[in-house]
Amino acid sequence: MDKGIIKICSKCSKPVIGLGLCPKHYQQDWRKKNPISYTYHTLKSNAKRRDKEFYLTFGQFRNFCIESGYIKMKGKNGTSFSIDRIDPEQGYYLGNIRILTLASNGTLGVKPESKWNVPDIHVPF
Ligand SMILES: [Zn+2]
Repeated sequence: MDKGIIKICSKCSKPVIGLGLCPKHYQQDWRKKNPISYTYHTLKSNAKRRDKEFYLTFGQFRNFCIESGYIKMKGKNGTSFSIDRIDPEQGYYLGNIRILTLASNGTLGVKPESKWNVPDIHVPF
């Protein structure tokens, strides 16, 4: 077996093979650099697990993220937002998804204020 060059993870100093990051930090780094891809894949696998239809293409989802302001929030507070289905009985497709903060997720019934029903978001910096 080719072990390659042994390096040390630049985040936790664990010895790693080949990459400069251990698998955990490599994944963390990848998520940080590819928040849309990461969210898209998470959403898709959640949909599958919950047996919900998933009709979003990556291109549609990327546009949704950009237009909804999701991108601006990335990495600021990962637990503060969620992607919500407007009609929970329906699957994931354009027109049935919106972004809510976890706080506003508890107060459904609020009238949409914009095309994507994006609540006021207070980014801490
Ligand atoms: Zn590490």
